[in-house]
Amino acid sequence: MSLDPDARVWVATGFSGSNCEKCLHTDPDCRNLTEARDVVAKRRRMYPADQRVCEICSGAYTPSRDTGRSEAYELLDAADPDEVSVE
Ligand SMILES: [Zn+2]
Repeated sequence: MSLDPDARVWVATGFSGSNCEKCLHTDPDCRNLTEARDVVAKRRRMYPADQRVCEICSGAYTPSRDTGRSEAYELLDAADPDEVSVE
């Protein structure tokens, strides 16, 4: 995921114990930010290119669909093909 250097990002500060400390958020309503004591808005270019971006904001992490063995796939596997409509 690449961001425009002028893109606004949000960084959580003043909290510990999170696995997302100092990572960049592109969504101010990110679930990870709700745990922060304080949130500051920055510009993307203020951080190095390899600065970690929140996996929730980047879409790399989805709580119920990131296992590669999701419930949806298992349901599809279990379903009778005749009962699965693609329309
Ligand atoms: Zn985030």
